[in-house]
Amino acid sequence: MSSNMAWVTLATNDSYSLGALVLAHSLKTAKTVHKLAILITPGVTTSMKQQIEAVFDDVKVVDVLDSKDQTHLALMCRPELGVTFTKLHCWTLTNYEKCVFLDADTLVLQNCDELFEREELSAAPDPGWPDCFNSGVFVYKPSQETFGQLLEFARTRGSFDGGDQGLLNMYFKEWAHTDISKHLSFTYNVVWSSTYSYLPALKQFGQNMKIIHFIAASKPWLQSFNTETRVVTPTSGGTGLQTLLQFWWDLFCQYVHPSLSTEMGGLAGQ
Ligand code: UDP
Ligand code: MN
Repeated sequence: MSSNMAWVTLATNDSYSLGALVLAHSLKTAKTVHKLAILITPGVTTSMKQQIEAVFDDVKVVDVLDSKDQTHLALMCRPELGVTFTKLHCWTLTNYEKCVFLDADTLVLQNCDELFEREELSAAPDPGWPDCFNSGVFVYKPSQETFGQLLEFARTRGSFDGGDQGLLNMYFKEWAHTDISKHLSFTYNVVWSSTYSYLPALKQFGQNMKIIHFIAASKPWLQSFNTETRVVTPTSGGTGLQTLLQFWWDLFCQYVHPSLSTEMGGLAGQ
C-alpha cells in the first residue's frame, strides 16, 4: 500500500542536511509506513551524503545548472530563483504516485500518514497572509508535465516573493478560494513566528500539533546547545518553542550525532 508514496525533503548544504536527518528520524519515530526521499545538490559533502544515504530510502542528486536543458534555460532568465528551482525538482520523482514535501526545517511530532489521502495541491495557510499557503508542507503528485509547466511559469512570471512560496501560490492560485479539502489544518504546519502568536489558541490546541516548522531565525541547528547538560537555549522565540527545540535536539543527540564523524560533529551547536 505504501511503496508508491513518499515524504520528500531538500538539502543543498550540510546544515540543512542536519535538519533533514532529524526530520527523517522524527518520521521514523512517528512510525510512518511511507518511504523517505530527499533531493540534494553537490553542495552537500560526501561524508554528509553517506549519512543521508543510511537514513533515507531514496536520495536524488539534482544539480540545477547541469540538469535538463529546460531547467537550465529557465534558470538563466531567473538566476535569483536558485533554491526555488531545486525545490521544484520534487515533481520529477515520478516513481511515486503521491508525495508530501516537507522543508528540512520541519519536525514531525505525531504520525500524519493521513496526509497522503489528500490531493494536489494541499497545504496549510501561511500565518503571515492566510490567503496564501505556506510551502514548507504540501501534498503533491509527481509529474514531468507539471514540473515543465512550473519551470515555464517561473521563467515567464517569476515569483512575487523571490522564492518557491510566491511561485507555487501563483501557480496553484485556486487554492485560496476553491476546495476546502485542500486546506490543511494549521496543525500540519505550525509556522513558528517570533513576531506574532495567538497564545490562547496555542494553549487550547497546542497538543494537536503534528508538524512544527522552524521558519527564519528559529532554525534548530542555529540555537545554542549545551553539550554538557544537553539543553537548548532559544536565541529568540517565545512560549513553547523551547520544548519543541528540545525535541529536535533530543532526536539529534540520539540518532544523528553518534554517527557523524568527530570532524562533522563540531558543525552543529555552534
Ligand atoms: N533550503 C536548502 N538550502 C538553503 C535554503 C533552503 O536546502 O540554503 C531548502 C530546505 O529544505 C529549506 C527549504 O529549502 O527548509 C526552504 O527554505 P527555509 O526553510 O530556509 O525557508 P523558511 O521556511 O524559513 O521561509
Ligand atoms: Mn522552512
